[in-house]
Amino acid sequence: MKLENQGLNTICTHVGEVPDEQFKGAISPIYLSSSYQFMDVDVKRYPRYFNTPNQEYLAKKIAALEHTETAMIFGSGMAAISHMFLAFLKSGDHIVVQNTLYGGTSNFIREEFPKLNIEFTFTNGYKVEDFEAAIQPNTKLIHIETPSNPLLTITDIKAIAHLGKQKNIVTSIDNTFASPVNQNPIDFGIDLVMHSATKYFGGHSDICAGAVAGSKDHLDKIWNVSKNYGGSLSDFTVWMLERSMKTMGLRVKAQTKNANKLAKWLDKQAFVKQVYYPGLKSHPEHKLAKSQMKGFGAMLSFELIDSISSDQFMKQLKLIKASMSLAGIESTMLSPTQTSHSLLTPEQRLEIGISDGLIRFSLGIEEAKDLKTDIKQAVKAVLK
Ligand code: PLP
Repeated sequence: MKLENQGLNTICTHVGEVPDEQFKGAISPIYLSSSYQFMDVDVKRYPRYFNTPNQEYLAKKIAALEHTETAMIFGSGMAAISHMFLAFLKSGDHIVVQNTLYGGTSNFIREEFPKLNIEFTFTNGYKVEDFEAAIQPNTKLIHIETPSNPLLTITDIKAIAHLGKQKNIVTSIDNTFASPVNQNPIDFGIDLVMHSATKYFGGHSDICAGAVAGSKDHLDKIWNVSKNYGGSLSDFTVWMLERSMKTMGLRVKAQTKNANKLAKWLDKQAFVKQVYYPGLKSHPEHKLAKSQMKGFGAMLSFELIDSISSDQFMKQLKLIKASMSLAGIESTMLSPTQTSHSLLTPEQRLEIGISDGLIRFSLGIEEAKDLKTDIKQAVKAVLK
């Protein structure tokens, strides 16, 4: 039985376990060694070579979940993104990047690429025509994010992959918001899939990590760059991540169910101006999302009516935490203006539709009715 071909929860639970040959324990042992024998071995192992036993085996789980050949694990999502970009871009090259994307990725490009003489274009929108219009003769990479952070815009993955193939340009996607539970971009032809593993892979708000998955050829290119930059993850955290990912299918499905319920409920409330969630029929790309996602994800954003300050509202929450980051089993809310997108200028934020009152809501696994009660009491307290 090939474990890689089994169902989601079987892959989450069993692929990538390091077999405990010595004591036959049920879970993976941790190999904390940073020094391995170099003579008479097939592989020279070293943590910064991304090939310690725990790194090597966890990469198998990630690759199986993303329906591809191999993967690499990094010290953060930004390490994964930056190493991936730098593997395919050199001085004089050009990248086309989606305009609606995680603020940290946007900062990295705007601040670091000019120093390296790498050209970049942020698209005017997130439709395939916007990407096509931004391509130049020296374009080497197209990077998308769908659903995007924080407005949950949906980009046509298949169309972007096709565009890349047509023009001989490598394509990459930030699949953090969907997770492999809800979306497998490789099935639509995308070359490289990256994750902030800090989010759904970890799932308990206690791990900072990143991952990239793709073909062996593409990952060899990334490895060649990454071994020089040195953004690998400590084996203890790799082990924690492997343990956390065993429950990823269960967690993300429960969180997605809550997001569906809360999005529909918020959409009907008089105190809400707008809800951004691809699972809502009113979302402009609802049909596209349905065609490329297995579930609509566990993230949504919303705006309250003008008479309710979003800061005051978040301060009144008793169960939902007003907290940075996302994807933990506990529900959290944040202001993108003050956190994930704070380093963009107000003009840059406005350009991509992020208002100061926007609230990003990461659904956890609590009972939906308790989340609704908390939101209602917080609104009531602000309006008092
Ligand atoms: N991509 C997305 C969509 C994110 O939300 C984040 C972080 O919030 C990152 C990448 C960066 O990941 P990390 O914080 O693990 O470096």
